[in-house]
Amino acid sequence: MRIILLGPPGVGKGTQAQFLIKRLEAVQLSTGDLLRTAIRERTELGRSAKKYMDVGDLVPDSIVLGLVGEWLAEQGERCVIFDGFPRTIAQAEGLDRLLDQMGKKLDRVLELVVADKTVINRISARRSCPVCGAVYNLLSAPPKVENVCDNCGREGLELRKDDRPEVIANRLRVYHAQTEPLADYYRQRGLLTAIDGDQGVKAVEAEIKDVLDA
Ligand code: AMP
Repeated sequence: MRIILLGPPGVGKGTQAQFLIKRLEAVQLSTGDLLRTAIRERTELGRSAKKYMDVGDLVPDSIVLGLVGEWLAEQGERCVIFDGFPRTIAQAEGLDRLLDQMGKKLDRVLELVVADKTVINRISARRSCPVCGAVYNLLSAPPKVENVCDNCGREGLELRKDDRPEVIANRLRVYHAQTEPLADYYRQRGLLTAIDGDQGVKAVEAEIKDVLDA
């Protein structure tokens, strides 16, 4: 199975991806995580991506598609949850081509819909570990010990540079202009289901479960 989670930053795609991974024994493709790892490891790709990410713009399609192509080729027959990819029509077309070449298809696109105001409130409570990239939310999913990463023990969680209010405003602009049109792209292909992302995590999980069971 191959499922895309579509929705603005902070809507809960990463959280729902974790639920789907357990349920479907899937692997997650988060292009944001792949790019952040490249930045932490100071690779050439990381260096070229950083300037776009720091200001909330999209990394060029050619870079992202190259990364995804390599990653997908390594996954074999495993179920894949796409989180934060595709983000443009060109990426969606690129994904169609990649899957075609592999003799595979997309099963469903779940669009998590949420108001911009909710996104801004949620993201300002988000903190992440600068060492391993684990993500917390001070309100809904805080670390066990205040300001210490559960995953790697690092003390000092940070507000990601691109989670600052001025950058979030641009990320939302970019989402509406470049990524939201994907909802129509997949609706026309009969693949889209819209889900209210303004509800609690468990309620969203329940709706997704209903869609998968249908
Ligand atoms: P995310 O963690 O998914 O919110 O992504 C953080 C940032 O990484 C985005 O604001 C973009 O700058 C970049 N990024 C992640 N995924 C993509 C993608 N599919 N296409 C272009 N840029 C991306």
